[in-house]
Amino acid sequence: MSTTDTPAAAVTVPPEEGGGWREFGLCRQVDPELFWPEPGTSTAAARRICTACEVRKPCLEWAIEHGEPGVWGGTTPNQRTAIRRTRAALRQTAGGSRTTARPDRP
Ligand code: SF4
Repeated sequence: MSTTDTPAAAVTVPPEEGGGWREFGLCRQVDPELFWPEPGTSTAAARRICTACEVRKPCLEWAIEHGEPGVWGGTTPNQRTAIRRTRAALRQTAGGSRTTARPDRP
C-alpha cells in the first residue's frame, strides 16, 4: 500500500457527490497501515488521530453508510455497526412502533 492509500485517500467519490472532505483528512499525513491494523492489534493510534481531524464527522457518516473496513471517523467497523443498529432502533421507535407491550397496572 502506498503512502497515499489512507482511508481518506482510498475513496474515489467525486467532491460533487460529497467527497470533498477527503482531501482534508489527517490520515493522509501518516502511515496508512495505522488505519487498517492487523486483526488483534490496537486501533488506538488511528482513532487518536481521528479525534483531531476536522473532517471526522463527514468521514464517519460516509463510513457508516458504506460499511468500509478499517478505522474511519475515529471508529472501528464494530463501533460503526453498533451505531447503525442504534440508529435503526431509534428510527423504529420514532416511527411509533412499540416492540414491547406495556404491562397493565394493577
Ligand atoms: S476522521 Fe480519521 S479516517 Fe477520517 S479523514 Fe480524518 S483522520 Fe482520516
